[in-house]
Amino acid sequence: MKLETVLAFHPHSKPFWEAAESGRLLLPLCGDCGKSHWYPRPFCPHCHGFGLTWKDAAGEGTIYASTLMRRAKEPYIVAAVELDEGPVMLTNIVTPDFSQAGIGARVKVGFDYIGGSDRKLPVFHPI
Ligand SMILES: [Zn+2]
Repeated sequence: MKLETVLAFHPHSKPFWEAAESGRLLLPLCGDCGKSHWYPRPFCPHCHGFGLTWKDAAGEGTIYASTLMRRAKEPYIVAAVELDEGPVMLTNIVTPDFSQAGIGARVKVGFDYIGGSDRKLPVFHPI
């Protein structure tokens, strides 16, 4: 999906995509309850507040769940990564050694044009 299409439906996510292009992972932060969340929404899913800002995430987390997509032309790993800030992000784990992508493994964010994307997407690499 092209970025302009994403922004047509989710204009509130624009700061995230701009930061991703420069290799920064931003998380929405609620000024009302102080919690971060993922994915970007127009309001906070914890308290329904609208006082959202953005903050830089540390970019590290722990694999909560993962699966290897073996039947793909080029096998890849899909994982739920629990960021150190708390939110869980559905993402890809990029590694030549699939054994490093098990539950509990520590990972660090990187940004890559994967799957024919016209924009950089956050992916994670084992630390
Ligand atoms: Zn909130």
